[in-house]
Amino acid sequence: MKQLIFVGRLTVLSLLSATAGRSQTTTYEFNDSHVHLTNNIQEGPTIRELLTMMSGKANRVAVFGIPLQQQWSYRVDGDRAPTYYLHSDAPLYYYSFTDALIAMAYKSLTKEQQARFDPMITGFNPSDMYAADHIRRVLQTFPGVFTGIGEFTIHKEFVSAKIPGEVASLQDPALDRLLAFCGDAGLVVLIHNDIDVPFAKEGAKPAYLDEMKDLFKRHPNVTFIWAHTGLGRVVRPTKDHLALIEAILRDPAFQHVNFDISWTEVAKYFVSSPEATQSLAALIQRYPDRFLFGSDAAAPANEAQFLQVFTQYDPLWNSLDPETSRKVRLGNYERIFDAARRKVRGWESAHPAW
Ligand SMILES: [Zn+2]
Repeated sequence: MKQLIFVGRLTVLSLLSATAGRSQTTTYEFNDSHVHLTNNIQEGPTIRELLTMMSGKANRVAVFGIPLQQQWSYRVDGDRAPTYYLHSDAPLYYYSFTDALIAMAYKSLTKEQQARFDPMITGFNPSDMYAADHIRRVLQTFPGVFTGIGEFTIHKEFVSAKIPGEVASLQDPALDRLLAFCGDAGLVVLIHNDIDVPFAKEGAKPAYLDEMKDLFKRHPNVTFIWAHTGLGRVVRPTKDHLALIEAILRDPAFQHVNFDISWTEVAKYFVSSPEATQSLAALIQRYPDRFLFGSDAAAPANEAQFLQVFTQYDPLWNSLDPETSRKVRLGNYERIFDAARRKVRGWESAHPAW
């Protein structure tokens, strides 16, 4: 019944109750499970500038760099220095220093400021059996800093093919090895994997859905966040996209799997019509503990850029009941990241580096 009442057009009453629901519990509007402090060339705002952008709106942020550095190939691009992966035919390469950059930024903050960040490890090659060792080494070099890994990418439109060497795969033992380590250490795993190939045939089964499910099943003790619900810039939601996601949410074998709704490119689908918003809202109402808001802001230059996706989702916030909205904006983040912080700190004290 609740769902029928709230998943409809915005009324003055629901607006008032939503506002009341927010102010009772916190003065912040959201936590953000998906923020890149840097762009593809490791540049971006300082972490203090990000704090200013968060101001009174965002309480906590899962923050990370970008593992894939865009090469500036003078042979290819001349003086046109590319800053984005789509702006050059030159390759991307794994840039592990991004983790040290994030750790040092975090360590430059006061304890109170640090409490508002959950740094994530991203600078590893998921097709390398040694990736797990990189993650362990980062934890031991910077104890007390990291909460999870990601966002890292296996299959991603336009990106996977730009990385020299072996193409990442969901069936790679190297991925299993690094996820097994995350399970042991308690690290949250934020993974980007397109559910399908770009420009797939309508009606065909999404290319990577079964492989993702198998991966989740192989790692039942890892807390996963599947970024963007598997969508991308051109990997559009098919008619049954939400039904496929619901099949995962409904299955007790996937209780450890959560979804973020981040990225402007993804929000655009879910706010493209009242029906699209209401379908997502109805699904979230049925599984209120399994969705997290994320912005996917990448090196935001100002507060408006940082807040863009949160604002873009206004129709969604207006379609959820106050309690569900609060969980997606704030509560689910706190539950998942707080649990991970505790576990990772425990692992670190049991495994000192020196
Ligand atoms: Zn992504």
